[in-house]
Amino acid sequence: MFFYDESINTCPNMTVDKISDVKINLQGAIKDLDYQIQSLSQQDPLFGFISSKYIRCGKENCRCKQSPKSQHGPYFYLRLEPEYKFTKYLGKRIPDAVEERIIIGSTIKELERKRKKLNLTLEKIDNL
Ligand SMILES: [Zn+2]
Repeated sequence: MFFYDESINTCPNMTVDKISDVKINLQGAIKDLDYQIQSLSQQDPLFGFISSKYIRCGKENCRCKQSPKSQHGPYFYLRLEPEYKFTKYLGKRIPDAVEERIIIGSTIKELERKRKKLNLTLEKIDNL
């Protein structure tokens, strides 16, 4: 794992040697992120989130008709990108596999954000 120190980025007294060290560290960190993203991408990620809601069943005599507190649920739904328009009903329990795949998906997103940040820093250094 490569280590990247953000404070180095703002140091005004950097020597050329240090700048190239930082560049090498950044490139290494980006490569490391590439690798992590690539291997997570092979684990069937889902990009989205899980939502839940309570419902009324529609039966005339059911208690859910009288009080919102007596509604049925929660029932879980998977909502996927883009724009979370795709919704899949999951039922009363979130399947473990779905939850894992959601976590993998959000981890990938997080790593991509980090990589973007590092790439921007690298660009800034190149423009010094
Ligand atoms: Zn009901």
